[in-house]
Amino acid sequence: MKEQIKFYGGEEIPLELHKVRIVQKLHLVPIERRLSALYEGGFNTFQLGTRDVFLDMLTDSGTNAMSDQQLASMMQADDAYSGSQSFTRLHTAVEEVLGKKYFLPVHQGRAAEHIISKTFIKKGDVIPMNYHFTTALAHIAECGGTIAELLHDDALQIKSDNPFKGNIDIDKLVACIEKNGKEKIPFIRMEASTNLIGGQPFSIANLMDVRRVADKYGIMLVLDASLIGENAYLIKQREKEWQENTMSDILKMMTNLTDLVYFSARKLSSSRGGGICTNRKELYGKMEALVPLFEGFLTYGGMSVREIEAMAVGLYETLDETIISQSPEFIKYFVNQLDALGIPVVTPAGVLGCHIDAKQFCAHIPQPEYPAGALAAAFFLISGVRGMERGTISSVRDEEGKEILADVELLRLAIPRRVFTLSQIRYVIDRLQWLYDNREMIGGLKFTYEPPVLRFFMGKLAPVSDWPEKMMAKFRRDFGSSL
Ligand SMILES: *Cc1c(COP(=O)(O)O)cnc(C)c1O
Repeated sequence: MKEQIKFYGGEEIPLELHKVRIVQKLHLVPIERRLSALYEGGFNTFQLGTRDVFLDMLTDSGTNAMSDQQLASMMQADDAYSGSQSFTRLHTAVEEVLGKKYFLPVHQGRAAEHIISKTFIKKGDVIPMNYHFTTALAHIAECGGTIAELLHDDALQIKSDNPFKGNIDIDKLVACIEKNGKEKIPFIRMEASTNLIGGQPFSIANLMDVRRVADKYGIMLVLDASLIGENAYLIKQREKEWQENTMSDILKMMTNLTDLVYFSARKLSSSRGGGICTNRKELYGKMEALVPLFEGFLTYGGMSVREIEAMAVGLYETLDETIISQSPEFIKYFVNQLDALGIPVVTPAGVLGCHIDAKQFCAHIPQPEYPAGALAAAFFLISGVRGMERGTISSVRDEEGKEILADVELLRLAIPRRVFTLSQIRYVIDRLQWLYDNREMIGGLKFTYEPPVLRFFMGKLAPVSDWPEKMMAKFRRDFGSSL
């Protein structure tokens, strides 16, 4: 176990083990401007411009701070259409960190999902998984497949002490295979640090059980490793058998148990890119031709060589517990503080961000009026902090056009690695406390423009009443300021 830094006064605060040498100025614009920005952006936080955003907690995708080593590596990039030494360095990093010999580079995680889905899924197939990710689901559906989400029943409970909410329920997995028949199941998908249920990890023990079932039926096991570093860190923290192992041991164990590993490098290691890797040459062979077709030549996959260099260094940094621990430790602090204030938040603390339960926070807003979207808009209005809706707006409609109401309605406040300071986290907690005390004032939203695919990105909404104006007036009265 890594030694913990203790404070004499007994406080439990996450200490930054890095120094800041490049900074970016932030602007906190007045609440009147924030309200206009919401109307301009259709009450969809994806549609806000960063000039109006104070703390950008929309996502951890491509927003982690880069290290001095990564920036330095970008200067030695070897520009070549083919045979680039930058690619060789990345390939070596994939082999050494993820333990896979064959590697296909792609421009980001969803491109890997595109290639894997196109190669292995045919119409009518079923993909069993712990839980879906938006882009994974969209690509599976695009190929005519459906998904079966097989988490344990308690995994969607907001308050829990289950350390591994991302585990697959093995009984459900066996039942799913028996029901559909193994010929309809091209692969089982396991997502590390299951994103949409609050960045919740699975255990090695569970992955071993899934592997046994996969072997029994002769089904391939695919790992979405976009958040594998944090999942490995939480295994080290929470799974007794692995506490004495290194991050490298745990990562290798996870990837060795799976046939095919893919990742978004935007989350895992750097600011761009992604990849697919395997030790099975025949799987590599099936996908190889699609990379030049959709991404770019096999030695760059749509990425610039500078990004490739940063990705290689970032992969090695995934093995550094000090670097990987920073975001989960900030999140733990954030979640525990909110929990102590009685604000409904997903527990135990996961990775990538803090997830607030909008179903409880906005219990008065009916689900078809998008409580999580409303909460995201209200929180931006009163704080300048941009979070992301992860609820029914991020879901889809069924074939008849009826809403498929999401299992959970969450406001996600992402904490990218080494980007925010503790006083900024304290500001977010303070504003959330004000909003919670005034939660009855938050009203619902309705769509004014609804695109057919991935509507949460481009959709526009409007408030169902003048609740944002009333909330702004109350904010000004309470704080005596427009900031
Ligand atoms: C972000 C993410 C993806 C998609 O990656 P992009 O690089 O954004 O295309 C896939 N899976 C998981 C778990 C992710 O978090």
